[in-house]
Amino acid sequence: MKKILLSSFFLFSTFGFSQSFIQAYKDRATQVKQTNINTILNDFAALGIKTTGSTSNNNALAWLKGKYAEFGYESTQITENKFTYSGKQSTNLIVTTTGTVYPTKFVIICGHYDTINGPGVNDNGSGTAVILEAARILKNISNEYSIKFIHFSGEEQGLLGSKAYVDNVVKATNPKMDIVLVLNLDEVGGVAGKVNNQIVAEKDGTPTYPAGGMYSGYPSTNNAASAVKTTELKNSILNYSNITPVDGYIERSDYMPFEKEGYVVTGLYEANQSNKPHTASDTYVNMDPVYVYNVAQGVVGAIQHFSTADMSLTLGTNDTKKNLKDLVSIFPNPANDFVNIGLEGKGYATTILDLSGKVVLQSKDQQNLDTSKLKNGVYMVQVTTTGDSTTKKLIIKK
Ligand SMILES: [Zn+2]
Repeated sequence: MKKILLSSFFLFSTFGFSQSFIQAYKDRATQVKQTNINTILNDFAALGIKTTGSTSNNNALAWLKGKYAEFGYESTQITENKFTYSGKQSTNLIVTTTGTVYPTKFVIICGHYDTINGPGVNDNGSGTAVILEAARILKNISNEYSIKFIHFSGEEQGLLGSKAYVDNVVKATNPKMDIVLVLNLDEVGGVAGKVNNQIVAEKDGTPTYPAGGMYSGYPSTNNAASAVKTTELKNSILNYSNITPVDGYIERSDYMPFEKEGYVVTGLYEANQSNKPHTASDTYVNMDPVYVYNVAQGVVGAIQHFSTADMSLTLGTNDTKKNLKDLVSIFPNPANDFVNIGLEGKGYATTILDLSGKVVLQSKDQQNLDTSKLKNGVYMVQVTTTGDSTTKKLIIKK
């Protein structure tokens, strides 16, 4: 009895409201280099005013592509998505690492690289630097979900690049792209001379834009899931960086076209809000490169967390998920040397994970699984069918 109580408590504390610190995530977070951040920010500044469709804007695209080549990404991992603004062409850059377990489910980390009126070292060289450094470090991790690092253009003219991508890529696939989460970074540069040790974690919800305002017509059905993911983002920031997250809401930036389609979004934004963006003074000396370095550590931790299959028990909100959950039976439970994961028909995959999120067993279209090598304890059984998944608890007791 005591043992069962202990297990239940552990389960609740792990999945209810917090997430485990994972040393391997921290080890990668500490691979962020201040010198890399500084170099990227200075390169970004040197590219000048990168107005959408301008020569500088195209030069910035070429520079970004050069960085990914330098990191060792294959050309097959890099795609471009073009759109037109004011008669000129501009380009979004998309870099993908394919997931080992769910290759068609995507975690997107994005930020814009176009600027307006100035070099935009904070808005949004800072987000660009974080994405690049994360992409460098995470190139060879074995992520369960696919990850897309996306550099949008056209943000300053009204989210033109992200709108084009959502319209022409995300919605144009059939079924439309399966996106686990969109994490957007815009203005994470801080203010020179200030103590920049907090960051706004932005969840979905538009309290400052009442009905009839610019965001009327955006769905609220995805708000609750965004709140869950934003809490996970905050936990990652706490676990893997030395800055503190504070609460805020999403605003005008590149997650909005995804939000409008009902996707789950979250974002990061500086807590000390600079007044330099959109001016000629948005320069390197007016922001805080050390802050960008700290943000990058938190983001590297967060991406690893988000690209590991979701075991949250609170996200099964739609009816399909409820139905699948009811259809899956686990017998016996507690189990010893074998377990039968019952689900009629073919086309499902079973993954068993321990409480740290590590995959300990996987199978396809197979009901009887050999659990003889699993140690006593509580595990999560994740059953995935095309377009749906559910998670249930399994106890191994020998
Ligand atoms: Zn911006």
